[in-house]
Amino acid sequence: MGSRFGVALSVLFCVCTARAQTLVAPGVWFLLGDASKGYSNTTVIEMSDYLIVVDANYPGRAKELIALMPTLSKKPVRYVFDTHAHGDHSYGNSTWTRAGATTMAFAGVAKEMDRWEPKRWQTAVAKREDVRATGESDVERPRKIITGDKLVLKDKTREVDLLFLGWGHTPGDGYVWLPKERVLATGDAAVNGPRNKLWDASIENWPTVLDKALALKPVHVLPGHGEADGVEILVGQQRFLKDLFVAVNREAAAGKRPAEMHIELPREDANWVPKDLSGDIEACYTEVQAHAPAGSVPHEWK
Ligand SMILES: [Zn+2]
Repeated sequence: MGSRFGVALSVLFCVCTARAQTLVAPGVWFLLGDASKGYSNTTVIEMSDYLIVVDANYPGRAKELIALMPTLSKKPVRYVFDTHAHGDHSYGNSTWTRAGATTMAFAGVAKEMDRWEPKRWQTAVAKREDVRATGESDVERPRKIITGDKLVLKDKTREVDLLFLGWGHTPGDGYVWLPKERVLATGDAAVNGPRNKLWDASIENWPTVLDKALALKPVHVLPGHGEADGVEILVGQQRFLKDLFVAVNREAAAGKRPAEMHIELPREDANWVPKDLSGDIEACYTEVQAHAPAGSVPHEWK
C-alpha cells in the first residue's frame, strides 16, 4: 500500500511541477512552451474586452495557441507583444495577424529585425517545417511599434505596463508588468534554466537592467523559457551573468583566448550554466575585446 501510495504521490507531483498551463492570477495565464520544439513560453492577460498575448512564438505554436485561447477566455486576442526579435518569440507574427490580432513591440525589436533579417528567417526555413509552411520569406514586422520606454494598457480590469528597461538579452527587450498583481513577464531577459543565447546581448549591462526589473518587486516572474517562479529567476539570471562576465574578463586579462579558458562558476549559478559553456564564453570575450556590447559586434547566429 505504502509504495503504491508513493507512486501515486510522485505522479501527482510530476503533474503539478510540470503543468503546461498555470493560472497566475485571475485572468492571467502562463503557458509552458514545448522546449523540444524550440517553443518559448506564453503569458495571456485578460482585459475587460480583449486578451493580450505575450510573445508570438514560432508559427506552429502560434497556431496551437490560437486554437487554445477560447478554452481560457471567449474574448478576442487584440494584442500580441513580441518581447524581442528572436524567432521563437516573433516568427508567429503573421499567423497572429491573420487571426485578427495586432502584433507590437518596442522600436528596438524592429531595428533588430531590420539588422538580422531575413537571413535568420531563411536559416529557420531550412530547419523548421512550421516556418517553411508560412510560405513567407521574412519575418513580419510588428504592426505597432512602441517608441519611448513605456506603454500602458489600462481598463477597469487591470493595468498592463509594457516596459523597455535597457539592453540586456537584446537591444529591444520588452517586459510586461502588472503592477496590481505584481506579475512580471520577462521574455528571455530572464529565463529559468540554461536556455539563453548571449550573442545579441549587452552582457555587462544586462545585470544593471535586471536591477530595474528587481526594483519593481515582482511576486511572480514568468520567464521566456523554463518554469515560472519568483524573483529567484531574476536574481539567479543576474548572478550567472555577473559571475560569467567577471570570470571571462579575468582570463582575458591574463592573455587567454576562449579555447584556453577554464571557467568554473559558483554552485548557485548551476541552473543557468549550459552543458557547453563555450558559446557564452566566446560572447563575453567578444564584448571584453570590443569594449562594446557583444550584440553590437557583427556576428553569426549560432
Ligand atoms: Zn527564446
